[in-house]
Amino acid sequence: MAAAGTAAVRAVAVRAAGPRSRLKQRTKRYRLPNLRLDEENCTGCGACVDTCPFGALVLEGAVVRILDSCTDCGACVGSCPSEALILERPKAAGPAVDLSAYKDVWIVVEYDRKGVSHVALELLGKGRELADRLGCRLAALVLGESVSHLTDELFAHGADLAYVVEHAALKKYRTDPYVETAAQLIRKHKPEVVLLGATTTGRDFAGALAAEIDTGLTADCTGLEIDAASRNLVQTRPAFGGNIMAQIVCKRHRPQMSTVRPKVMELPKRRDGHKGQVVKEEVALDDEKFLTKVLEFVKEEGSTVNLADANVIVSGGRGLQDPANFKVIEELAKVLGGAVGASRAAVDAGWIAYPHQVGQTGKTVRPKLYIACGISGAIQHLAGMQTSDIIVAVNKDPDAPIFKVATFGVVADLFQAVPLLTEKLRKRLGK
Ligand SMILES: Cc1cc2nc3c(=O)[nH]c(=O)nc-3n(C[C@H](O)[C@H](O)[C@H](O)COP(=O)(O)OP(=O)(O)OC[C@H]3O[C@@H](n4cnc5c(N)ncnc54)[C@H](O)[C@@H]3O)c2cc1C
Repeated sequence: MAAAGTAAVRAVAVRAAGPRSRLKQRTKRYRLPNLRLDEENCTGCGACVDTCPFGALVLEGAVVRILDSCTDCGACVGSCPSEALILERPKAAGPAVDLSAYKDVWIVVEYDRKGVSHVALELLGKGRELADRLGCRLAALVLGESVSHLTDELFAHGADLAYVVEHAALKKYRTDPYVETAAQLIRKHKPEVVLLGATTTGRDFAGALAAEIDTGLTADCTGLEIDAASRNLVQTRPAFGGNIMAQIVCKRHRPQMSTVRPKVMELPKRRDGHKGQVVKEEVALDDEKFLTKVLEFVKEEGSTVNLADANVIVSGGRGLQDPANFKVIEELAKVLGGAVGASRAAVDAGWIAYPHQVGQTGKTVRPKLYIACGISGAIQHLAGMQTSDIIVAVNKDPDAPIFKVATFGVVADLFQAVPLLTEKLRKRLGK
């Protein structure tokens, strides 16, 4: 898909008047409590009352009453000496669709004027692995106005076939025509897995598409594996503020959809000469009925930082103590021809703009060299940089967690160590 709203450009769009009813309205379903009391067995001892973390059990006379605030957590069940509390777990519902009708792994391809985006190639690498595990084909989905020239690059990175749709309405990414086209093809060909990049465009596209075709979506996955027995895609991603890694499966619906951030998966080796099949698809799109149109592209200010593509990143954290001290970081970055990154603490303090933030809620980076200065190494920061080839950490605290992932650790005051390093490198590199 043609990238829009990337780091460098912001699409200006207008929304036409009228109801937007195509995305399904979902009604909230309230569950009836499954915890019940066998009144004949209840002795009114009250042993269960204090075990409820939600205060949902009260003693009324000689019998316990379950209040509406019961969450069915089951914490009380074992506390009843006369086994009067019974929790009936609902049986898992069966598949919502015929799972066996779905096959192949699809990558939704993002591109720009320079060609196929890095994240699409990275997804082809992971997709190839998944397709081989599933014993199926790896397909690329390319939507745009004039995009046939991209397919050789996709085949060279592992795709077996490419579905290509060319239409004037797909010239620039817009949610409605892209979702309508992709949904038509997914309904027709029934892929088992669909992967998209967690870019600005990919995030918008994936969410709307998953809602349209009524399936689940796991965003920002850091790991994707196949469970051989069930053929389910096991999607790993950080949860609860990055404190746990959750494994999510979409058991009842197909396709299984995930987004993955750039630089999370490895770029596959190019296989020149690897050929694939081009499948040209026709779709009927009525531009009149789409709610948005792109009027112009406006270059976004302050978005010149391209952390994702930098080979060297020098990052500063709260240890810098003052926004003016980012100068120390900038000088080292300049000598190394690298980009400046930051921890969220430095960004939240207003010392540096958000596009510099590395981590779970910032950018995921994978440079050849990452230098972390005055950064403690919180799990949310590590989530965005720990796959860098070489990590150098400068921190005055020898127990800082950043040293656990560092290739080289410098226990020192950054205000002494970093300028010294900059000076040495300047001389060594003749800058
Ligand atoms: C949901 C969620 C998402 C988050 N997302 C992100 C994210 O994307 N990116 C991110 O970075 N954080 C993120 N965080 C915040 C994260 O938990 C940490 O709070 C943050 O990374 C800490 O930044 P820091 O290391 O700069 O600061 P601190 O943890 O305060 O560490 C400062 C470090 O500097 C060292 N230091 C101090 N003075 C010097 C000196 N003179 N010389 C050398 N070392 C010195 C100290 O020893 C210390 O280790 C997130 C948190 C949550 C809950």
